[in-house]
Amino acid sequence: MTRSEELFKKAVTLMPGGVNSPVRAFGSVGSTPRFIEQADGVYMTDVDGNKYLDFIGSWGPMILGHNHPAIKEAVIKACEKGLSFGAATEKEVEMAELMTDVIPSLEMVRMVNSGTEAVMSAIRAARGYTRRDKIVKFTGCYHGHSDALLVKAGSGVMTAGIPDSAGVPAGCTQDTLSAIYNDLASVEALFAEYPKEIAAVIVEPVAANMGVVPPKKGFLEGLRKFCSEHGSVLIFDEVITGFRLGLQGAQGYFGIDADLVTYGKIIGAGMPVGAYGGKREIMEMVSPVGAVYQAGTLSGNPVAMAAGIAQLTILKNNPQIYEELNQKSDTFFETMKENVRKSGHAWQVNHVGSIGSLFFTEQQVVDYASAKTSDTAEYARYFKYMLDNGIHLAPAQFEAMFVSAAHTEENLAYALQKAENFLMCK
Ligand SMILES: *Cc1c(COP(=O)(O)O)cnc(C)c1O
Repeated sequence: MTRSEELFKKAVTLMPGGVNSPVRAFGSVGSTPRFIEQADGVYMTDVDGNKYLDFIGSWGPMILGHNHPAIKEAVIKACEKGLSFGAATEKEVEMAELMTDVIPSLEMVRMVNSGTEAVMSAIRAARGYTRRDKIVKFTGCYHGHSDALLVKAGSGVMTAGIPDSAGVPAGCTQDTLSAIYNDLASVEALFAEYPKEIAAVIVEPVAANMGVVPPKKGFLEGLRKFCSEHGSVLIFDEVITGFRLGLQGAQGYFGIDADLVTYGKIIGAGMPVGAYGGKREIMEMVSPVGAVYQAGTLSGNPVAMAAGIAQLTILKNNPQIYEELNQKSDTFFETMKENVRKSGHAWQVNHVGSIGSLFFTEQQVVDYASAKTSDTAEYARYFKYMLDNGIHLAPAQFEAMFVSAAHTEENLAYALQKAENFLMCK
């Protein structure tokens, strides 16, 4: 028995499913997880000494690769001064300044500890600001695991086949309205049905939790227009796209400003960090200035801030990182698309910037319904083949593949070659 198998056997007796987050469980690909001991650059090494070329990047944060020396150094330095004070620190100001400097729509920001918290809090702020209760979300978009948002929520929930979640009282989701991604008419219909009741529309500007689904031309613009017309708050959930598509995230990439934006993943560089921010007028609703209560004992933690500041500073000072990353990712996914075509299949490859998905379906994937037509058993075989060849993909069809700045042309060529071998045998 391998050490990973031993650990998993023990883990399932101690933690639900043996994991602390469902997607790590390998359940949907019919395998047991590899327990990772360490990671450097693009490689992760498990407890049995197997080395994997990683395309998860801790689900996004590792845009510069694992264990980046400058980030590690910043964290060690911060640790030497103490892990937490429960008091204001200079690093929080530095982080807020860094974020608001590079993102024009961000006038004020509040740090939290996860993407879930960021979204939950942004929605509360939007409701407090508008004095309305209803929110619109898109089927297949994931916004963390808070009660009101566990409605048709994509990825982990989607793979497990749980439409909603047990333990969420109906009262918690009665004000959550679902619309169809890339379908403005479905949003328009909700505004027509509930005029003056919708506090916010929340969207992943590039959906990345039903696999990667780019917004159609005009979709985000349409949401911007509806929200402005109806006095609703437009919330971009940029927990994945923030600082990934570019320094200004999806807002910069598509040239659209949201009213509130949520962040996570990349801004913590691997530490547990989230943030929400946006228009001053809305953010000033938040306590202790305003009546919307939101707090956090460890929010703005100095070690976490040090990691985030180090990563964002590198990204800010080296704009060519995004140019090169997006360029090589584009070539990578376009080549994969070409390889699929050569293999005689009509499977779909979607990608934007450095995130993408290979869907085992012949239908164009534009929303939840089309994503669901994917053959997840085929994905499981693909995943297993790649893992056996030392390539660690997301263990579920409905997750993104993350390319990092650390991936070299050789790394990408290797992954393409293996993927092509798999496709050609099909
Ligand atoms: C990961 C994710 C979240 C939740 O973030 P956590 O840090 O896991 O709580 C929210 N929104 C989106 C778009 C995400 O991808």
